[in-house]
Amino acid sequence: MSHPHPELGAPPSLPRNGLRVVALGGLGEVGRNMAVLEHRGKLLIIDCGVLFPEEHQPGVDVILPDFTFLQGRWQDVVGVVLTHGHEDHIGGVPYLLKERGDIPLVGSRLTLAFVSAKLKEHRIKPRTTQVAEGDRLTLGPFDCEFVAVNHSIPDGLAVMVRTSAGSVLHTGDFKMDQFPLDDRITDLRAFARLGEEGVDLFMVDSTNAEVPGFTTAEKDLSPAIDTVFRTAPGRIVVSSFASHVHRIQQVIDAAAAHRRKVAFVGRSMVRNMKIAQDLGYLEVPRGLVVDVKELDNLPPEKVTLVSTGSQGEPMAALSRMANRDHQIRIGEGDTVLLASSLIPGNENAVSRIINGLTRWGAKVVHQGNAKVHVSGHASAGELVYCYNIIRPRNVMPVHGEWRHLRANADLAIATGMHPENVVVVDDGMVVDLVQGKARVSGKVRAGYVYVSAGNVGDVTEDELRDRLTLSQQGTVTVVALVDADTGRLTEAPDFVARGLGTDERMFEASVPAIEKALAEAAAQGIGDTHELEQRIARAVSRWAFRTHRRNPLVVPVVIDA
Ligand SMILES: [Zn+2]
Repeated sequence: MSHPHPELGAPPSLPRNGLRVVALGGLGEVGRNMAVLEHRGKLLIIDCGVLFPEEHQPGVDVILPDFTFLQGRWQDVVGVVLTHGHEDHIGGVPYLLKERGDIPLVGSRLTLAFVSAKLKEHRIKPRTTQVAEGDRLTLGPFDCEFVAVNHSIPDGLAVMVRTSAGSVLHTGDFKMDQFPLDDRITDLRAFARLGEEGVDLFMVDSTNAEVPGFTTAEKDLSPAIDTVFRTAPGRIVVSSFASHVHRIQQVIDAAAAHRRKVAFVGRSMVRNMKIAQDLGYLEVPRGLVVDVKELDNLPPEKVTLVSTGSQGEPMAALSRMANRDHQIRIGEGDTVLLASSLIPGNENAVSRIINGLTRWGAKVVHQGNAKVHVSGHASAGELVYCYNIIRPRNVMPVHGEWRHLRANADLAIATGMHPENVVVVDDGMVVDLVQGKARVSGKVRAGYVYVSAGNVGDVTEDELRDRLTLSQQGTVTVVALVDADTGRLTEAPDFVARGLGTDERMFEASVPAIEKALAEAAAQGIGDTHELEQRIARAVSRWAFRTHRRNPLVVPVVIDA
């Protein structure tokens, strides 16, 4: 197995008979999926998603892939293939199109509808090319063929990319539910046909590679959902991803069977369900869905609310309900159904919501106490079938943390793949396919790009560290009047502390350390205000840690006296 080497540098120029794959996101993490294929000077992008921030990234809206690799080459991009409409595959598109607005977006009907609605909010009208399974489309030197795959959103596609240097089959996200609600199964016959033709590089979803066996069918959730609808004494609030059309279809069906009305809550939920209904992906009996305002006129046992926020997102409807900061007042008799998987990292936030809702008297049904969720990704058993059906020449596990990528690689090797032909890499690693062999050839920049308060890239790693220090250790502002001629304090500095849990007078004992730092600066002939501020900050930080084991963010202000 190829493992990345930390000393890897920029890749050499690509031979004319070579095909390059650069993963800018989604490898070593769950989210911001983005791969760039390069051949004969042209670039094809597969997906452009976002990653959602964790608790140690305060004030961050989303995290984008790093587009540095594409700088100066935007004109070479022939298109973006979007495998499906999940945020971690399409969420970065608005930011991508701000770099070059006329890059064609290629995807299925529902995927393009979801991404177009999102782009409309950013006031961007994209160039789109709609495709369906079985279609072929030439984009520059890339000949693309699309294959139906089943996932936790309808209309997912895998893509086979043929070039004169070889072929790549990219699964997107997929599973192999044999009884999906829309009867659209992952097309294993097409996988087999492509395998016969020859797949030089197989890029495979790794999310569930550690999970043994097979992912349960979506239909098997029906009894648990039905039980909730049969036994709930009052209102039912269902929380799910705003894109999980099939899960919401099951909720609609249960509501219809138990004579309840349904209202959608949350901007993305209302928007996406309207799109899904308009395009025929969601079937809603006439009169079943009502506006949330009409619910006041209905008895509680006739009400179903479908909302966003199943991941504990603080601004989403469910989280606000748990905080009693929403027009829907949760109380005794309400049943809340969390019908989504838990994305790793969100456990604490979701647990807080379950506690909040329970505290108001609601009964909460979730994957921990009922069978109300199945994964959208292929488990180990399904992946092994794929390897045996396709028999690829090289494998590159994608979509997952290191543990998932590694587990997927082990599955490929277990089916007889030579370990040398299984490349396990993470974001930024460059894999070149030359004469049928896929090998790591270098590394490009693929750091986190933060969107904070709507601005891209303004918040750096350093500033995030400051935010964390501030939130965990508090802050102290030091205002020092310094004589410009002598470099000495003209009077005792002022200290203003916040979030330290202690009296700011504590810092008065740091004055000798400040005086010492100023004296050293004066001896070196340093009088520049900014430099003096840095030295005071350092002196106070060291003093606070040495004497009190504290590490506050120190904000120095030097005033020339
Ligand atoms: Zn997905």
